[in-house]
Amino acid sequence: MLCEPLIMSNSLVERRRVAHVPNVGALLQKPSVAAAAASTSAAADTKTVTTAQTAPKGGKRLAHTPSTANLARPKIPAEFGGKVPTAIRQRYLDHFCTDLLKVYPGNEAQAYKKALEEEQAVYNRSPSRRVYVNLAVGSVKRLRDAAAAGALRTHGGVTAGPVPNRTVSHLDILAGKGGASGSWSIERNKKVDEIKSDSELYQRLQPYVLTEEQLEQNGFPRADALGRPGRARLAHVDSRARITRAGASCRECLRCNRTYAVADDGRALVEDQCVYHWGRVYTRRGDKRYSCCSQEAPADGCCVAACHVSDNFDPDNLVGYMATMDKPEPADGNHGVFALDCEMSYTQMGGELTRITVINSDGDTVYESLVKPDSPVIDFNTRFSGIKEEDMEGVDTTIRDVQAVLLNMFSSKTILIGHSLESDFKALKLIHSTVVDTSVVFPHKMGRPYKRALRNLCSDHLKRIIQNDVGGHDSAEDAVSCMDLMLWKLKEDAKSLR
Ligand SMILES: [Zn+2]
Ligand SMILES: [Zn+2]
Repeated sequence: MLCEPLIMSNSLVERRRVAHVPNVGALLQKPSVAAAAASTSAAADTKTVTTAQTAPKGGKRLAHTPSTANLARPKIPAEFGGKVPTAIRQRYLDHFCTDLLKVYPGNEAQAYKKALEEEQAVYNRSPSRRVYVNLAVGSVKRLRDAAAAGALRTHGGVTAGPVPNRTVSHLDILAGKGGASGSWSIERNKKVDEIKSDSELYQRLQPYVLTEEQLEQNGFPRADALGRPGRARLAHVDSRARITRAGASCRECLRCNRTYAVADDGRALVEDQCVYHWGRVYTRRGDKRYSCCSQEAPADGCCVAACHVSDNFDPDNLVGYMATMDKPEPADGNHGVFALDCEMSYTQMGGELTRITVINSDGDTVYESLVKPDSPVIDFNTRFSGIKEEDMEGVDTTIRDVQAVLLNMFSSKTILIGHSLESDFKALKLIHSTVVDTSVVFPHKMGRPYKRALRNLCSDHLKRIIQNDVGGHDSAEDAVSCMDLMLWKLKEDAKSLR
C-alpha cells in the first residue's frame, strides 16, 4: 500500500503490536536448532507436562526449563517457487511459537517443535496462499483459545490437583499430539465458493466501480484534456499535497518537512541528515502523540536517515503515462478482475515505482516484478516498501516494460481492485477507469479526505492480521486483502438480499 492512513484510528493504536523478530544471528550459528529441539522434545514433553500439572501453586517448576530457555525461534526453511511466500509463513510460525509457548510454558523446545509441525501441516494442506492464510488464522485462533484455557488452568486457583481429563485431551488435540493438527476443521473461504465464476464476480462488482466523478474526486490520474501523448491530468489535488514545480531548485522533505536545495538532476546540494518520525501523530484523550515512538508531539524525530526525500510532485507536469485500451468484448462479458499493489522508493527525481504485484481473484500472483527506477535511488523506503538495496541487484525491468505488460494483460474494462489505488496508478503512470477502491467502498466515518487503513479493514472484516512486520511488508498480501475485502462485501450484500 502506498498510502499510509491519513489519520490513525484509535483501534490501530490499541492493536499495535511488537513484531516478533526471530533471532536470526543465533539461528545462523545454530543451524540445527530445529532438529535439536525436535530430538530433545520427546523427553521434555512428558516431564514438563507432568510437572506443570501437579506442581502446587507457587511451587518450583525449574527442573526442565533452563536447558532450553534460550532457544532461538525456529525459521521457515527457504523454499524456491513456493506457493506461499516465506515471509508470510514465517509470520504465522512466529504466531504459533508465541501461542504454543503459552500452551507449553517453560518448554521452548516442545513449543517450537509443535509450532513447526503446525505450520508445516497448514502449508501442506494449502493449495494456494489464500487457503494458507485462512487455515493459519484459524489455527492461531485455536491455539490462543488453548493458551487461554491453559492460563485458566494454572492461574485459576484450583491448580493443586491433576487437570481433568477432558481438558488434557482438549489441549492435546489443539496442540497437535500425534498429528492431530491435521484433523482440525477447515473453514474454507465460503465467500469464494459462493461466486461461481469470474464472469459472475465481474458482474457483481459493477455497482462498486467508481464513476468518473469519483475517480476525479479521489485524485486518479485522468486522460490529458488536450490529448497530448504521455500526459495525464489531475482533476483534484489534495490541499495538503506538497507541490514541487518542475525545475524548482528547492524541495520540502516528506519526512521532516525541512526545505533543501537540489541540483537539476535532483541531487541534494548539501549533505544533510533527515531526523524524523516515521509514524503519524494521533490524538487520544486530548494527548497528541507519535505512533512510532509514543513521544508527545511535538518532539525531535526518533529516526535518522542519510538524506531528505521528496516526491517531487507537480500536478501540471505529469508525463510518461499510458492508458489501458479498449479491447473486443469477451464472450462471457468478463474483462477480468485483478487486484494490484505497488511499492515505491525515493530516488533523486522523487518517488518512483520499485515493485508491482498483480493477483487474480483466487489470490494467486499473476504478475510480479521489481522495477529499476529511472533515477538513482536515495532511500529504499524499506520500512514501508519492504525493498532492500540487495533486492535490486541485476534488476533491469523499467516502468515502461511494466506498462507494456499491464496494457497487454488489462483492457480498459478490466476491474482493478486496490486500496487508494490512485497512488498505485501514479506510481505506474497508468490511466485506467474501471476501478474498485476499498478505501471508497469502506469509507472513514468522518468522510473524505480521511481514509481507513487497510490493516484495520482487514482486522475488522476478515479477522486477519497484516502489515505488522518490522521489515516492511509483502505487497501481494495487500492486494489479496483488497480482493478478499470485496469478496466479503459481496457476500454481505447477498445476505442482506435474502
Ligand atoms: Zn517517532
Ligand atoms: Zn528530511
